[in-house]
Amino acid sequence: MNTLPSRLLSLPEHHYSHIPVQPVHAPTLLAYNDALAAELGLPSAAALSADKCLWLAGSLASPPQTPIATVYSGHQFGIWAGQLGDGRAMLLGEISDPQGQRWEIQLKGAGATPYSRRADGRAVLRSSIREYLCSEYIHALGIPTTRALALMGSPDTVYREQAETAAVVTRIAPSFLRFGHFEHWYHRGQNTDGQLLADLLLEQHYPECLQADNPYLAMFAAISLRSAELVAAWQSVGFCHGVLNTDNMSALGLTIDYGPFGFLDAFDPHHICNHSDTQGRYAYHAQPSIVQWNLSCLASCFLPLATEDELVEVLNNYVAQYKQAYLARMRAKLGLMRPVDGDQELVDGLLKAMAAQRVDYSLCMRLLSQVSRDGNDIPADLAALWPLPEAGLQQWLTLYRQRLQAESLSDAERATAMNAVNPKYVLRQYLLQAAIEQAQQGDASGVHELALVMSHPYDEQPEYQAYAALPPDWAAGICVSCSS
Ligand code: AMP
Ligand code: MG
Ligand code: MG
Repeated sequence: MNTLPSRLLSLPEHHYSHIPVQPVHAPTLLAYNDALAAELGLPSAAALSADKCLWLAGSLASPPQTPIATVYSGHQFGIWAGQLGDGRAMLLGEISDPQGQRWEIQLKGAGATPYSRRADGRAVLRSSIREYLCSEYIHALGIPTTRALALMGSPDTVYREQAETAAVVTRIAPSFLRFGHFEHWYHRGQNTDGQLLADLLLEQHYPECLQADNPYLAMFAAISLRSAELVAAWQSVGFCHGVLNTDNMSALGLTIDYGPFGFLDAFDPHHICNHSDTQGRYAYHAQPSIVQWNLSCLASCFLPLATEDELVEVLNNYVAQYKQAYLARMRAKLGLMRPVDGDQELVDGLLKAMAAQRVDYSLCMRLLSQVSRDGNDIPADLAALWPLPEAGLQQWLTLYRQRLQAESLSDAERATAMNAVNPKYVLRQYLLQAAIEQAQQGDASGVHELALVMSHPYDEQPEYQAYAALPPDWAAGICVSCSS
């Protein structure tokens, strides 16, 4: 694992701080992502030396490079929060994969930094398991995200509402730059620093924008488009991020910062997954407009680099871009290969019927692949999901079957296409909760099994059928908050 120096070191020193090693006691490797390691040309779990394990726990006395933490700011729940920064994240360095692409290696929970703001710089096991599993699940769904390489545990005590144990997640991304990095310099009036950051992002991550008349504007437009496509993907799989503050928005359009996230069970557009979000600012249905709001914060930071009119035009394009990306995803989920006017209304009708009867979103989408174009029955498994199938579903199926007349795929071909985009396995709260409780008792096998099943969410895995079940009643009582 030969690490390269972080490219952020080319920025002036006030962009980051060097962080001394703050070892945890008795770190153990609880989970390791061999598949990602292989992609990146890193050693497998079996080949990891004791020193490498210590390093991944942020606990190697003399790491190859001194880790760095970066400064950023942000809007939290719509309010300017001032300086935040990597309070418990630190960059170990970078690696170059076999294709020559560079990746940053970051630890989360490896100790305090100058940006910790009186917090401890640590992360608890429960939230670390959630981040480890969900970032890889989002990747397996085909949605851009930071990745998770390793999960280290330690018996060290970390206090949240109660005493818990510590953990460190190793996460990987081409860059962990956030909207908040740009906000930091803009709100301080340090436009030279903002421009240096923009230059770095352009050259390293948006080189295709360098040819544009105004590369900065082109990059802002690219970030906006990626963000629209990202949230469209989230909506299509029922993913609720939970804390869409501007400091949790990736400048690369990646899903980042897995906290109180959740996947919809019963379809409810107003679902709020974060117990701390009392106003529902980050409710499921609000995510697309919140991302646009976050983009408007980022647009301000580009005012020294483009005109206001140009930036506003990009922001105005967002709505159409989002709608197009969302509809494309939903068409695919319904097995509709060609666009037809009225498709959005067809989707809306289904969602409205699902919401009225609180039907499980993912299972319903998956089971729609069993609908035959020319029959008029309701497939039994699908009917069983609906309290009153003859009320909402039957009517909608009539419209759906009419719409399918405009398609040329056979039922079997359409089912195959639909099953490739409608996950059978969903990383639901109750599955996470069971794996977490087992790991808290010292047995990480539930984490390993969940990681395995969720790495193939679209495949039939008969031996793991239980993981595709509806949530049990006790799942409704699971509460996740910002505490982590
Ligand atoms: P989040 O709500 O997780 O996005 O975090 C918001 C800010 O608080 C970021 O600057 C984090 O680095 C910081 N933060 C969150 N938890 C901790 C912690 N336990 N120790 C230090 N900083 C933290
Ligand atoms: Mg954050
Ligand atoms: Mg966080």
